[in-house]
Amino acid sequence: MTSSTALNEARRATELSALADGDPIDLIVIGGGITGVGIALDAATRGLSVALVEKHDLAFGTSRWSSKLVHGGLRYLATGNIGIARRSAVERGILMTRNAPHLVSAMPQLVPLLPSMNTPSRALVRFGFAAGDGLRKLAGTPASTLPRSRRIDAKRAIELAPTVRRDGLDGALLAYDGQLIDDARLVTAVARTAAQHGAVILTRVAASNATGTSVTLTDQRTGESFDVSGRAVVNASGVWAGEVDPSVRLRPSRGTHLVFDAEAFGNPVAALTIPIPGEINRFVFAMPEQLGRVYLGLTDEDAPGPIPDVPQPTPEETKFLLDTVNTALDVALGPDDVIGAYAGLRPLIDAGEGRTADVSREHRVVESPSGVLSVIGGKLTEYRYMAEDVIDRAVELRGLTASRCRTRNLPLVGAPSNPVATLRSPAELPSSLVARYGAEAPNVIAAASCDRPTERVAEGIDVIRAEFEYAVSHEGALTVDDILDRRTRIGLVAADRDKVVEVAEEFLAI
Ligand SMILES: Cc1cc2nc3c(=O)[nH]c(=O)nc-3n(C[C@H](O)[C@H](O)[C@H](O)COP(=O)(O)OP(=O)(O)OC[C@H]3O[C@@H](n4cnc5c(N)ncnc54)[C@H](O)[C@@H]3O)c2cc1C
Repeated sequence: MTSSTALNEARRATELSALADGDPIDLIVIGGGITGVGIALDAATRGLSVALVEKHDLAFGTSRWSSKLVHGGLRYLATGNIGIARRSAVERGILMTRNAPHLVSAMPQLVPLLPSMNTPSRALVRFGFAAGDGLRKLAGTPASTLPRSRRIDAKRAIELAPTVRRDGLDGALLAYDGQLIDDARLVTAVARTAAQHGAVILTRVAASNATGTSVTLTDQRTGESFDVSGRAVVNASGVWAGEVDPSVRLRPSRGTHLVFDAEAFGNPVAALTIPIPGEINRFVFAMPEQLGRVYLGLTDEDAPGPIPDVPQPTPEETKFLLDTVNTALDVALGPDDVIGAYAGLRPLIDAGEGRTADVSREHRVVESPSGVLSVIGGKLTEYRYMAEDVIDRAVELRGLTASRCRTRNLPLVGAPSNPVATLRSPAELPSSLVARYGAEAPNVIAAASCDRPTERVAEGIDVIRAEFEYAVSHEGALTVDDILDRRTRIGLVAADRDKVVEVAEEFLAI
């Protein structure tokens, strides 16, 4: 079944009341992060009837706080976890060549060879990069998509990362990995593609009293509740999984990133990858990002206790990141250079003692005594594989009638071969618009009914007015925060956010 990809307030109202009045459905998915939307897409494309409910907004949780990397799995190889390393490389290739080539690009990562890096560490990185090339080949991803690793000289290293420390710089090691234009945009694209294939996607609807065959849903906007029956109920609520199903035990770990104006790093083209002093195989990354920014991450800290809606970075994490990056820079950065910061909680499986950095990133599907199927752990990179696994399990356990998984070759909304992206490009489209919407970019302008659709929302912010309108008309944004903090990431910098709040309000009043 093919439906419109547009998510908006009118569709939400219609589908919410149809769900309240309707017959039981095959599958209810709780949580609109990357895991939940991936499951909804897998289910819908196999012919199952599916409704996904999200308490806040798409990508409200951990899925918008990631490093935005589609990892090749090198890190897991180093810890001997060959299965997950290989799978990550395969999933990266699928995303970059078939599912979402418009949202994932090859990011150069540069490890500067400075005197502070001893010979064994250099050999380890060289070996790791060569192994990464091997993984890429094994996964069938061509070098035209992800170039081979190599050594570069100091001059080239400075061109790619102009503020790298020059004193004693003996060139750099360079490798490539997948980088998302933005994680929350991937979540929205997967959700809209699921809707295109008939899934019901409802934001601001919270689930409670989940059992194997039913859930109470509460519209967060009206406070009204009703019960829904399903043949299977999947808990994909990430770090909140234990609140939805008390039999689930997680060990959240916090990861923090700092946000800089790209000028503070000399407008780099490559990500600076800096070994953490005293650690093996752990690095901090300063990555060039959209909107003229650099994100510097990341930490890995135990985060016990109640789960906040929006986790906050600590001063210690900020200091650690600045101290580490400064070991490789010519001009030291300080707290005044930081223009924003964000933290997210990894939904790690509780494996007892040990550092959270060493806890496996494998996912697990568990059936609780109440019959709820919970999916826990995992990585954004592997969402498609995780979804396939969850639906295979649900089909087997509940005897559902479904076809085989179809997502390997399925283009998401905005990928060139998705049929909705058929409008011809006007000659001059802003490159930032294409980077965020892919082949759908012309639709964003064509669908706009606002004044001055191609004008920027504010001076110095590379987002046009038509994007705000599209967020509301097609991408399910219901509030100013949805537009500023998830459909666009303007809100990561408070000063930028202040400049455009009123513009966003204008679009919600239409
Ligand atoms: C700092 C950091 C960096 C990372 N970097 C990377 C990376 O670069 N690459 C990578 O592959 N992975 C990365 N990860 C891992 C990845 O981000 C997560 O594994 C993934 O985003 C988890 O997604 P999720 O959908 O399971 O959870 P979430 O995104 O948290 O989604 C769960 C959703 O459930 C909703 N919810 C909760 N309770 C209810 C309820 N009762 N009813 C309805 N909805 C509910 C929440 O509002 C939330 O939106 C990183 C993680 C962190 C923390």
